[in-house]
Amino acid sequence: MNNILDLKPVLHGPSKKFFITTHHKPDGDAMGSSLGLYHYLKKLGHQPTVVTPNDYGSFLFFLPGEKSVIQYESDPQQAFSALKDCDYIFCLDFNRLSRINELGDAVRAAQQPKIMIDHHLEPEDFAQFQLHDSKAAATAELIFQLMVLMGDLHLMDAEIGTCLYTGIMTDTGSFRFASTSAEIHRTIAFLKESGVDHVKIHEAINDSWSFRRLQFMGYVLANKLQYLPEKKTAYITITAQELLDYDVQTGDTEGLVNYALSIEGVKFAALMVDRTVMVKISFRSKGTVPANEFSAMHFKGGGHLNAAGGQSSESLEVTERRFLEALENFYPQIIRDEKH
Ligand code: 5GP
Ligand code: MN
Repeated sequence: MNNILDLKPVLHGPSKKFFITTHHKPDGDAMGSSLGLYHYLKKLGHQPTVVTPNDYGSFLFFLPGEKSVIQYESDPQQAFSALKDCDYIFCLDFNRLSRINELGDAVRAAQQPKIMIDHHLEPEDFAQFQLHDSKAAATAELIFQLMVLMGDLHLMDAEIGTCLYTGIMTDTGSFRFASTSAEIHRTIAFLKESGVDHVKIHEAINDSWSFRRLQFMGYVLANKLQYLPEKKTAYITITAQELLDYDVQTGDTEGLVNYALSIEGVKFAALMVDRTVMVKISFRSKGTVPANEFSAMHFKGGGHLNAAGGQSSESLEVTERRFLEALENFYPQIIRDEKH
């Protein structure tokens, strides 16, 4: 493993081509850190390209540079040619190549040096350079640290700052999760002084719902929320038909699981969505309840202590049943948690 500081002569050297990729169904941190790095590299005179495995929520379309993003699923030729052409590969906000689907095999086989910047636990050893900190609240925070390490903070501007603010804001639940350190607030202060309009960002992310999405949320909360007070657990299942009925778009289910967690006393929440090819599951927890361990043990997933995800290749009904069975062994641990 090389030292990340060895990249300094590369970043400060002649113009190079950088391939930047991030995880499946990118969220605010995945897109914010990727586009923040994109603008930073451009400012250094390089030629970066951001390639995502697939699409993302329209609430991220406001990010500066978003129009330049290549989506592998809809444009594999262009994605592969950017990969073939590049000098370096940045992998952001994921630590296993399986998290970028088929693109992962191509990245694994690529000969160019890889740089992983990430904050998920237990990284896979596929990159020659790593800027990894599982205590970091967001990968966008690590992009900020990269600029500090390279002595480039003077290059911070409203474009880079808007992207990094978005990543940090979304991954900290708007600065409320335990990961929100004093350092994060200092970083945010610096971004604000660099011209970031935080009102515009919060409005773009939170006040950009379609009428249908809000109706879908109302339907789900009224009809689909299951509450198990004796297990301090709440969960939601969504069928493929319901996704069709409400014309649910990519990103529209984001945040739903947090409503299950917002019931007083609830420490563990799940959202199971039938995506036809598989059931995608999101887990959220409070205190020391290990959502990532539950996900890894039962649903081929992982993530952070309080926010994890996984999947099931069985039907939604079977998946729900398996979840409830697994919960029988897990809930004593939820009840025991003393932090809340
Ligand atoms: P979300 O529920 O928002 O999709 O994901 C929450 C967290 O769990 C994120 O940090 C994400 O990277 C992680 N995660 C989501 N799905 C998976 C998965 O299928 N496998 C692994 N290893 N992590 C996941
Ligand atoms: Mn992240």
